[in-house]
Order: sequence, then structure tokens, then C-alpha cells
Amino acid sequence: MARMTTGRVPLIAGNWKLNLDHLQAIAFVQKLAWSLKDARLDFDEVEVAVFPPYTDLRSVQTLIAADKLPLKFGAQNLSEHDSGAYTGEISGAFLKALDCDFVLVGHSERRMLNGEGDDDVAAKTAAAIRHGLVPVICVGESAEDLEKHGQSAVPVAQLKAALAGITGAVDIVVAYEPVWAIGSGQAATPEQAEQVAGQLRQVIADAVGQDTADSTRILYGGSVKSGNIAGFMRQPNVDGALVGGASLDIAEFSKIIRFQNHVGV
Ligand code: PEP
Repeated sequence: MARMTTGRVPLIAGNWKLNLDHLQAIAFVQKLAWSLKDARLDFDEVEVAVFPPYTDLRSVQTLIAADKLPLKFGAQNLSEHDSGAYTGEISGAFLKALDCDFVLVGHSERRMLNGEGDDDVAAKTAAAIRHGLVPVICVGESAEDLEKHGQSAVPVAQLKAALAGITGAVDIVVAYEPVWAIGSGQAATPEQAEQVAGQLRQVIADAVGQDTADSTRILYGGSVKSGNIAGFMRQPNVDGALVGGASLDIAEFSKIIRFQNHVGV
């Protein structure tokens, strides 16, 4: 069930990064599903998604389908191209054929380590949409950006660029992830996250319309733990979390997913 005030179903997403091979992925997803079932999680109240490495996706797909697990999944990246001479790349068409629901686009690690710029992120966003995948568009400022330009200038510019070629209603998710908060143990405050999320929602409204802005989930990411998820989920413009490190610990990730139990949101 969607949150009464916003109509948006919260999304808690786990980005595994370069962790867990396909055998570990099977064991992990099974245990996570059992843990959430034991805790009587109402999957109508919160959507749960995992983002394993490419080589795990077929195993995760098969497990989720065979055991009818109420979990969603996606890839951590895709090519902007559909097919052709692009050695090492993976097409959105292949991800769709594996029943992926989502795909991360523009994660700060790919922007920094793989040199992905705003144009690449825009092309990948378009490719995801073209193949019926929901892009989780990641934006966020570095510590240096924060000092030079304040908190929202860079994420706002990144999101405008990612949506530049999109017209009309689209199914997207946006993840606001300050780079300085990722893996640092130092999360943004809920108020900071809310302030930027509000501005990102306005960017969506200006780019593709108010209806899409109202229905789009905006996640916060960066050192999310069970101890701080409550504050984020109380913010009207924050509709979930993109979780890195803590998503690899089943007990901790399960507590984050069950934020409603322990925070009374
Ligand atoms: C991430 O990499 O998307 C992330 C949010 O990482 P962490 O939760 O470990 O800060």
C-alpha cells in the first residue's frame, strides 16, 4: 500500500556492487526472503529490490520465479547501445529478457572509476526506458562540489542532464547519493536529504511533467543503516533508500526494510 500522504510505495534497494557470486547470491536471496517472511513483512507496504552483479542475474531470476519470492531485482549498469561491436557491454534488451525490473544508471562509482559523464548517463537512461526497464538514476555531489557549489547544484544539474532527451510520462526512480556519504559512515542529515529531494522532484516536474514528478520515488543513499533509516523515511520527499554496504548483511538489511516496524512511519 502506498504512503497515505504521497501515494508512492517506498522502495528499499540493495546495491551489492562487486560482491557475491551466483552461488552466494542464491543463498543470500533465499535467506533474505525467509527473514522478511518470518518478520511478516507486508510487501504491499514496501518494495524490496536487489542489484547483484551481472553474472548472478540469471540465478536470481530463476530463484525468484521458482519460489515466487516477492522481491524485485535489477542490474548495476547497462550499455547505451542495443547490440553490436561493443565488447564487454550488456544490452538493456538482455536485462529485460532476464526479467530485470530496474537498472542503476550513473552510480557515482561508475562516474568516478569508469569516467561516465552526464551524456553517458542520459544515453543509458534512454536505453533503459527504451527496453522497459526502470532506470534508478543516481545523482549526488562530491565533498568538493559541496564546498564549492552547495549541496543541490550538482545533483540538480546531473538530473536535468539525465532527463534531457526524455519527453512525456516515464517510470523512473531517482537516487540522491552524496558522494561524501557513500561508504563513509557519515550519512547526510534527513533534512539535507529532504531539501535536495524536493529540488530533484521539481526538476522532474519541469522536465517531464507534474504527474511523473508526483509518482517518482526519490531515494536517499549514503551510509544508510537500520539506526538512521527512520529519519529519512519521515521526510515527505524521500521515498526509500539505496543501500550499499548494509545491504550485504541480511539482518541489517532486513531491519532497514522493516523501517515501518521500528520507526512508526
Ligand atoms: C551506494 O554505493 O549506493 C551506497 C549507498 O553505499 P553505502 O550504503 O555503503 O554508503
